Amino acid sequence: MKRLALSILALSVSSALFAAAATNAPSIDPHRLSDEVKTLSSDAFEGRGPATAGETKTVDYVVAQLKAAGVQPGGDLKNGKREWTQAVPLLRTEIVGTPSLSFANNGKVEALTQGDQIAVRAALDGSKQVSIKDAPLVFVGYGVKAPERKWDDFKGVDLHGKIAVVLINDPDFETGVGDFGGKAMTYYGRWTYKYEELARQGAAGVLIVHETAPASYGWATVKNSNTNTMFDIVRDHPAALHPQVEAWIQRDVAVNLFKNAGLDFEALKKQAQTRDFKPVVLKGQTFSANYKVDSKVITSHNIVGRIEGSKRPDETVIYSAHWDHLGVGEPDAKGDRIYNGAVDNATGTAALIELARAFASQPKPERSVVFLNVTAEEKGLLGSEYYAAKPLYPLGKTVANINMDALDPHGPARNFTISGSAKLDLLDELTDTAKKWNLVYEADPKPEAGHFFRSDHFSFAKRGVPAISFGSGNDWVDGGLTAGKAAEDEYVANHYHQPSDEWQASWPFTGMARDLQILYTLGNDLANSDTWPNWSKDSEFRAARDETAAQRK
Ligand SMILES: [Zn+2]
Repeated sequence: MKRLALSILALSVSSALFAAAATNAPSIDPHRLSDEVKTLSSDAFEGRGPATAGETKTVDYVVAQLKAAGVQPGGDLKNGKREWTQAVPLLRTEIVGTPSLSFANNGKVEALTQGDQIAVRAALDGSKQVSIKDAPLVFVGYGVKAPERKWDDFKGVDLHGKIAVVLINDPDFETGVGDFGGKAMTYYGRWTYKYEELARQGAAGVLIVHETAPASYGWATVKNSNTNTMFDIVRDHPAALHPQVEAWIQRDVAVNLFKNAGLDFEALKKQAQTRDFKPVVLKGQTFSANYKVDSKVITSHNIVGRIEGSKRPDETVIYSAHWDHLGVGEPDAKGDRIYNGAVDNATGTAALIELARAFASQPKPERSVVFLNVTAEEKGLLGSEYYAAKPLYPLGKTVANINMDALDPHGPARNFTISGSAKLDLLDELTDTAKKWNLVYEADPKPEAGHFFRSDHFSFAKRGVPAISFGSGNDWVDGGLTAGKAAEDEYVANHYHQPSDEWQASWPFTGMARDLQILYTLGNDLANSDTWPNWSKDSEFRAARDETAAQRK
């Protein structure tokens, strides 16, 4: 009895300590979060499509909230003064009509059907016309050049004027053991990397072989996301990152192509999983393409609020969230055409506003804090990509990026996660901070899907800035894993990227309010320290960070 009483006493002392630590963070009002999500996801905002009337409404609303919260404008510099926004010019391209695409097997033409056998996306390299006649085909394995892993699939091959055929995911996905994180996907496995690397290698085009397991999605996803309108940021040198032809082909199309060249697809794939792999010319096989590309530039905006640091204003902690969603589109079964995007990502935008309010209510931190509400995430992380390509505050002196996308509007959970898997000090610091609220870190259960590369923090990560995207937990205080997982599954099945992602009066927002205290504390600690968190030694982003080390001396 006595011992029990003592341990109860000890427990209450320690929870009092936790409570004291926790209450150092200003409290976040769940009612405000609810109101903001309700407004941003109302039909009046038309699904918040970039460069639409919905954008104007969204920008006006968020700017008014940031002003009222008490932060300063942190956007483009005009006549010596900061504006509330950063203009984001976007390139919008479309293939005109049906593209003419074909292989030739020793001169015998075999036409390819767009959307069915092949999915070619509208050129993003600046081409208005694509005319490729009988370009040779070269199989380049996984198309990986990773100096820190002593891996080079190209072995000096010349790809100029040629079409590279490449596998999706990274070389150790199938075996599950190796230099690329085993089952987990490194950036070398992502399709965006394949295009970028093959542009660096000078290839005229890329055909990625679609296989469902390593891609983590079926052909329908490939078809839907490649055969319609394409977007990119307006780049100074688009051809440095985009080959003229960027396409996927179905696996059986690839198997047949290899067979026509007297090669065995599976056997070559095995070879590609080793360091000794060398590119293989697909003898007697060529590729042709002919189509017009219609392109224009539209302008959208990132919204930027800022609190200037009291001691080291040139050092910056960035919180980010995308404001855009899918706009007005195809009607659902009920005839609803407005993609309201309440969870995705009115929640993150509301979170950003309330974090701004929390920081503005406290004494100024030593470093600056930026609240970056980016556009065009749904078009391929483009608002964050633009910010990171044309940073308003130097990336070398950006301490960290903490991103929020699709937070859970329900009650509090006993865990949290991040999008994808990565090893970096920032995650360790978040994990330690969350412990003060008795939250545990839950790793992404499906790291092979490459979720780390599918949220806005990645635009920072690939340039070396330590970055993570926070994810709400699913082990609910009220109802446990059963309730949390059921809500998660229900959202994915019935509301994710559908017109029914709408605000609910029953959402308490108490989990978000609690999680935001944790994220506030993480950012506030960083903003009041002189430390520079980094990536782990074996991370593919470490080298990019270390390149700017001199700026942080
Ligand atoms: Zn989102």
